[in-house]
Amino acid sequence: MATVTRVPEFGGELILPGGDAYDRNRAVWNGIVDRRPAAILRCASPGDVVAAVRFARESGLEIAVKCGGHSVLGLSVPNGGVMIDLSPMSAVRVDPVERKAWVGGGSLLRNLDLAAQEHGLATTAGNVSHTGVGGLTLGGGMGWLARQFGLACDNGLRGGGGNFGIVTEFEFRLQQVSGRALVVDLVFDPAKARDALLGWRDLLPDAPRAATLTASATTSGDRPVVSVGYVWVGEVDQGLAYLSTLRELGTPAAELVKEMSYVELQSVGDDPNGHGRRRYSKGHYLTELSDSAIDAFLARGLPTIGTDPDWSRVPNGGFQAYGGAIADVEDDDSAFSHRRTLVEFGCGTTWMDPDEDGERIFAARDYGAALQPFANGVYVNALGDEGQDGVRRAYPADKLARLAELKRRYDPDNALHLNQNIRPAAAPA
Ligand SMILES: Cc1cc2nc3c(=O)[nH]c(=O)nc-3n(C[C@H](O)[C@H](O)[C@H](O)COP(=O)(O)OP(=O)(O)OC[C@H]3O[C@@H](n4cnc5c(N)ncnc54)[C@H](O)[C@@H]3O)c2cc1C
Repeated sequence: MATVTRVPEFGGELILPGGDAYDRNRAVWNGIVDRRPAAILRCASPGDVVAAVRFARESGLEIAVKCGGHSVLGLSVPNGGVMIDLSPMSAVRVDPVERKAWVGGGSLLRNLDLAAQEHGLATTAGNVSHTGVGGLTLGGGMGWLARQFGLACDNGLRGGGGNFGIVTEFEFRLQQVSGRALVVDLVFDPAKARDALLGWRDLLPDAPRAATLTASATTSGDRPVVSVGYVWVGEVDQGLAYLSTLRELGTPAAELVKEMSYVELQSVGDDPNGHGRRRYSKGHYLTELSDSAIDAFLARGLPTIGTDPDWSRVPNGGFQAYGGAIADVEDDDSAFSHRRTLVEFGCGTTWMDPDEDGERIFAARDYGAALQPFANGVYVNALGDEGQDGVRRAYPADKLARLAELKRRYDPDNALHLNQNIRPAAAPA
């Protein structure tokens, strides 16, 4: 590994191999990621970012950019390269009159949500508050407000997944948001869940925009459970009224209805999705949800329904509704693609013991493969280790060609390639 001693004109914190600070700062959300950068450059200003990039390029070192460190592949940590850590650049300014927010390129979602909600405002952000604004927005940014106000990238930068530069500050358009939310889950025994899921599927096209329909197939204790429900942001009375529609789907084993503030909603997933555990996941976009796709969803990657495995080791699955304002934007208007998606499917597994790596990864791959025949694409931020095949699933061919041409103009050497990489088009002859 190259030995770095100093970085010219860099005023941030330089962390070199050895010592607690190095190990603390190279660790990211997915505990499976264990890479060793030659240097970690914690940038405090745009000038630091410029100095870091110049140094890396002149030294021939690979560049990785870190905001929240939540990419499941750990794309923000290079082996032997320069890790440009933007997390000190996390300030948020809000102009409540203009309804705009300016957010540092290394900020976590929680900073944005808290600062905006002080003025009764918000923009679409993801569902776990310790995720980075940077990676989330540049890939698209799906959240509980997206069906009302569009994706994060529809209210800020237009996407491209970190391929076209390093963002030191985002500007977001904000919306007035009531500040109240509901989380509703009807929990079924899996044997009785199929009809409920078929009915839930039929609600998707006409659901109110304040509702994001959700479904999950998970393990509770040592038993499998299936739930259908929705997250509502807006007038709570209307959200409760919508519950009667859901109750027509069947008689659940349990009904969970929780009212909370919007800020609480944004962090209810924080602990279950905490840092440092080992993770593997797969995702798909589906424009239709057939009965067969629902059967594959319920089977959770197992060869047959009806077997009784160790459920704690079986991957979990979920559906989250798209549509609404996401589909109001033309597919050609941003790098983000597949705006006609009906639902996003995600499956994943979490464990601690490295000896389980193989078994866990195979199980999640099997679950992802079982849904693949029903998929029309994938969310770039849900992509894992699928390489260029995955990138081709995230962007349709004509969009990818346009993006490759832009990449040739802005980054012809592909210096920014530790991302879901859009390779530069060949130079014209
Ligand atoms: C627990 C969890 C919950 C999630 N929930 C959601 C959700 O609700 N909605 C959703 O849409 N997605 C969600 N995601 C996916 C998430 O959007 C991606 O993992 C995203 O890449 C994370 O961004 P980050 O900044 O935290 O990650 P990082 O690993 O720091 O960065 C990811 C990629 O973006 C690049 N990048 C980051 N910041 C910048 C910048 N400022 N300039 C240029 N490039 C940059 C990095 O180089 C890297 O390639 C979730 C992920 C996790 C792990």
